[in-house]
Amino acid sequence: MKSIAIVGAGISALSLARQIQSQFSCQLFEKSAAPGGRVASRTVAEQRFDHGAQFFTARTPAFKAYIRQLMAEGYVADWQAHFAELDGNVITASRQWDEEFPHYVGVPDMAAIGRAMAKTQAVQFGTEIVELHREDKCWQLIDSAGETYGPFDWVALTLPAPQTRALLPSQFSGFEAISATEMKPCYALMLSLKADPDLPYQAALVKNADISWVSVNSSKPGRQGHSLLVHATNNWARQHLNDDIECVKRHMIDTVVAVTGLDPQLIEAADIKRWVYANLPKQEQPAFYLDHELQLAACGDWCIKGRVESAFNSGMKLGQALMQ
Ligand SMILES: Cc1cc2nc3c(=O)[nH]c(=O)nc-3n(C[C@H](O)[C@H](O)[C@H](O)COP(=O)(O)OP(=O)(O)OC[C@H]3O[C@@H](n4cnc5c(N)ncnc54)[C@H](O)[C@@H]3O)c2cc1C
Repeated sequence: MKSIAIVGAGISALSLARQIQSQFSCQLFEKSAAPGGRVASRTVAEQRFDHGAQFFTARTPAFKAYIRQLMAEGYVADWQAHFAELDGNVITASRQWDEEFPHYVGVPDMAAIGRAMAKTQAVQFGTEIVELHREDKCWQLIDSAGETYGPFDWVALTLPAPQTRALLPSQFSGFEAISATEMKPCYALMLSLKADPDLPYQAALVKNADISWVSVNSSKPGRQGHSLLVHATNNWARQHLNDDIECVKRHMIDTVVAVTGLDPQLIEAADIKRWVYANLPKQEQPAFYLDHELQLAACGDWCIKGRVESAFNSGMKLGQALMQ
């Protein structure tokens, strides 16, 4: 059996490992303490928040089939939110999400998806890979503490494009295209509330404000408590990427109060997460990169679009190519 080191344990990595595990011995290396990558959840004041991906949709047959399986196992549910579009603080449209076009979430949190997918995989957490080394047609990986892992026949990188590029040798066949791939930042504000915010919607896209998204996180299936999740626009986040995080938090709280009419007295605790590489628009590039000569590959949402389904499909397609 060939061995492969998969760097990262987000959705693309876990989809890749799932696809190839019958023919490859897979070892995943993840810098954080949990699987799932940007499909992430965190606890603030005893409330659970999805501070990365909010929900996801499924359009392609393979992803639909896998989501059906996760639903049957209780890891995924359909979030039938009341959805609104806002222009500043004015509601311009609203509708009920329903089963005709499901908006899926992990249960009891988004991170449940990564946990479910990682159950059958060997993942070494808390290990940031900082260097790849090739010798005698095999790969060695070196982490930030100077530990070496290997040898492996293959390496697959599943990190956001700029982090992938940082580990790739310049002779990698997709190096230039990957170097040119730009990802957009985002801030996620988590507000733990003392009571229900009493909004006429549970999820909203916002235009003409520094925030782009507001959701009543606690309205998702299987959640408890009262919580609000807010995303900054990519543009505002880019302009304020290096600002003091407390100033960013303050501005986002003021903005969400102005946009939604939320009573600030309801806020019990607030936390903020800065995503340097959050998402990117639809891409015109291959669904993955595979260099047979170097036995080195790369995949991730950034090959297709900044979506959970794109990450799954990129990893799956790379897996199909490796199996051939
Ligand atoms: C704020 C936000 C909101 C979003 N909203 C939505 C949404 O509503 N719907 C939707 O479909 N998508 C959404 N997305 C996008 C979605 O989360 C991503 O498309 C998808 O999760 C990407 O998966 P991935 O496997 O390609 O990458 P990632 O999830 O980024 O996985 C990469 C993994 O590699 C790890 N890593 C990085 N560097 C190293 C290293 N050197 N060594 C070891 N490990 C490393 C990271 O910790 C991470 O776990 C959102 C993303 C963000 C950030």
